[in-house]
Amino acid sequence: MKGFGMIKAGEAAWLEKERPVCGPLDAIVKPTIVAPCSSDTHAYHTAAYTDRILGHEAVGIVEEVGELVTKFKPGDEVVVPCCTPNWLASNMQEMLYTAHDEGLMASFKYLGAKDGVFGEVFHVNQADANLVHMMDGVKPEAALMTVDMMSTGFHAVENAEIKFGDTVCVIGIGPVGLMAVAGCAIRGASRIIAVGTRPKCVEAAKEYGATDIVSYKTGDIVEQVKELTGGGVDKTIIAGGNADTMLQAIMMTKPMGIVSNVNFFDFSAEFKIPALAWGLGMANIDIRGGFCPGGARRIERMMELIKYGRIDTTKIISHTFHGFDKIEDAFWLMDSKVPELIKPIVYID
Ligand code: NDP
Ligand code: ZN
Repeated sequence: MKGFGMIKAGEAAWLEKERPVCGPLDAIVKPTIVAPCSSDTHAYHTAAYTDRILGHEAVGIVEEVGELVTKFKPGDEVVVPCCTPNWLASNMQEMLYTAHDEGLMASFKYLGAKDGVFGEVFHVNQADANLVHMMDGVKPEAALMTVDMMSTGFHAVENAEIKFGDTVCVIGIGPVGLMAVAGCAIRGASRIIAVGTRPKCVEAAKEYGATDIVSYKTGDIVEQVKELTGGGVDKTIIAGGNADTMLQAIMMTKPMGIVSNVNFFDFSAEFKIPALAWGLGMANIDIRGGFCPGGARRIERMMELIKYGRIDTTKIISHTFHGFDKIEDAFWLMDSKVPELIKPIVYID
């Protein structure tokens, strides 16, 4: 079968691969809408995968199920979480670490361990726990935005422990940061300062609840945030930037605050944090970093927020393509980060 992926770091192309085999607990799904992620383009530039189909955001139609699958059958319309843990792994039994089933980020099977969703079909392990039926009242493209963007953005919000009245800075307002802005608003933050410059993202950030916009291109963001707030924020979420962003986040966060990261840092990145910036170790500022939680129930919860009108995830869709072959165009567009880009999707029709 055909799929768009990476031959090696820095080389992406259409690949010819074997059709995946369906185990007794598994499913084979034909994608109907897919989206490229910044993590796909990041992996393409830097990761050591070879001959690997990319993509980990999909909704689709079940083509085949294993003999032990009870909740799904061929023809069902499904939403596929980007992280599909092995629910039998000891980390899962011990700590319910749905992102790290067999080790760091190991629940991220697509890309990390097998071909992704940019193929004619793709494999889903343990379908009964890792697939979600499409929900009445939720558009398929809205559901697609839950599987990684909303789940990850909301994970940043969960780790930041946003409380009523918190003042928050969200650094980075690509699709992940925008979902974090929306999540902060739902969790009751009062002031939400969003850092980013792409005009479409700035507009969407305001719609999702940002009260202030700061540009990292026109001055030091720590100074700007401290000036706006008269001293700093309660919580800082990092959803973009580079290794220096970690220090900036710590410096703009007040004592007793939390820095919550979901940004994918470069393999070579190092955090240089002068002790004074972290209150000589006495600031009670927690630094947390997390990976998108996995599994079906997580995504059902996200979809229920859409169904009951708490969030419209389709505002982050800036470009739509039609046709399997257009996956390549969407991927390169995602890589380009042009000013009018938030998130492209591809209807495979
Ligand atoms: P985007 O590239 O679309 O957005 C990045 C944002 O960061 C933009 O708003 C950009 O501003 C801003 N930015 C860039 N440089 C700086 C800087 N120096 N200082 C402050 N802000 C800056 O990314 P996505 O929203 O798609 O993804 C965000 C990150 O999340 C990526 O690293 C991605 O790999 C990661 N990710 C992590 C997951 C997880 O589970 N932890 C899952 C999915 C994604 P501008 O408007 O100027 O472009
Ligand atoms: Zn992703």
